[in-house]
Amino acid sequence: MSAPGKRFEKRLRAGVLGATGMVGQRLVNMLANHPWFELADLAASERSSGKKYADVVKWHLDRPVPEAACDLVVKDLVPNLDCDFVFSALDSSVAGSAEEEFARAGYPVLSNSKNHRMDEDVPLLIPEVNALHLDAIRVQQKNRGYEGGFIVTNPNCSTAGLVLVLKPLADAFGLEKIFVVTMQAVSGAGYPGVASLDILGNIVPFISGEEEKMESEPQKLLGKWDGSRFVEAGLGISAHCNRVPVRDGHTECVSLSLKKIASIREVAEVLRDFAVDEELASLPTAVRNPIVVLEEENRPQPKRDAEAGHGMAAVVGRIRECSLLDVKLTLLSHNLVRGAAGAAVLNAELLAARGYLQHRDAGKFRLAEPVTR
Ligand code: NAP
Repeated sequence: MSAPGKRFEKRLRAGVLGATGMVGQRLVNMLANHPWFELADLAASERSSGKKYADVVKWHLDRPVPEAACDLVVKDLVPNLDCDFVFSALDSSVAGSAEEEFARAGYPVLSNSKNHRMDEDVPLLIPEVNALHLDAIRVQQKNRGYEGGFIVTNPNCSTAGLVLVLKPLADAFGLEKIFVVTMQAVSGAGYPGVASLDILGNIVPFISGEEEKMESEPQKLLGKWDGSRFVEAGLGISAHCNRVPVRDGHTECVSLSLKKIASIREVAEVLRDFAVDEELASLPTAVRNPIVVLEEENRPQPKRDAEAGHGMAAVVGRIRECSLLDVKLTLLSHNLVRGAAGAAVLNAELLAARGYLQHRDAGKFRLAEPVTR
């Protein structure tokens, strides 16, 4: 991780919607000691609201619930939280309308949920890939009449690692077709997620909606914002998604066809040399080289490699020739960090660095009606 200087006089106050879930917990953990953001308020369902966070959360991280969160009382999903912006780690059954209500009430919303990812005026953001898409925020605010609020999303957990690896290859050689088979961890299904009797000693070759997301989200991420709309990348993508008995870390076997002829050594070099610019390097959660290339023939492995770059790197191995397309490789990324909480925090850091996140002026703060669920 980079070591930023103190950037803001006063830290921005962050709220977490869905704070009790698998992604919410990761967010709480990352925000508890964040140099720019302060964990200020939490919300979840009626099952949790009104209770102290430490008493209600089924905590899954190895270290204890951070002190900054223990005594916070979980609130209802109502857009009057005491914070400058919110992260959303809500179940998708409620995320769509709740995120709109918060944005309408003036909160910038950093969402992990699928609901608004493909909206025509909502940035689907990976800072290392498509930071220029943030220009869509102004159009979104105009389209929707939001004053100060907006929605920015991060991609699906398997798409995040895949597109991070595709980006330097697209820039260097151009991409035509992508064939990908995933082996996705159980934590990607939230809590309690997949029943143990369904997954122990087993593989489930279906994850609802996942293949559709993997085939559509990269088109937006690797496409362009032309000033008024997103123009898709026009790639051929076919995805097979499988749930496997692994706790954290999604592994993906990928075959690619490139527009320009490239040797395996050139492909490996481009991936290994992929580095972020100075603006991104100054963000606390960024890693300078977000792709780690391993030489060992039996890597990457989720147990050994999911935490690379504090969970923010994509780890690539087994780069070799493909007899059907041009190149094949195996990649791994941490679904709860690069694929969710870490992605959202990095997005928020970029927004803060570019002045999109502000301290809310209490006088201008319009309290909204409760979200209808
Ligand atoms: P999860 O463990 O099931 O947590 C869901 C959260 O939503 C909980 O905090 C829950 O609160 C809250 N919630 C559920 N129903 C609600 C309601 N009616 N009103 C208010 N809050 C409600 O799910 P997760 O894995 O953390 O995923 C959260 C979101 O991120 C989902 O949209 C998911 O698709 C997306 N995502 C997940 C991953 C991953 O790897 N897990 C990766 C990328 C994106 P209670 O505890 O009070 O019920």
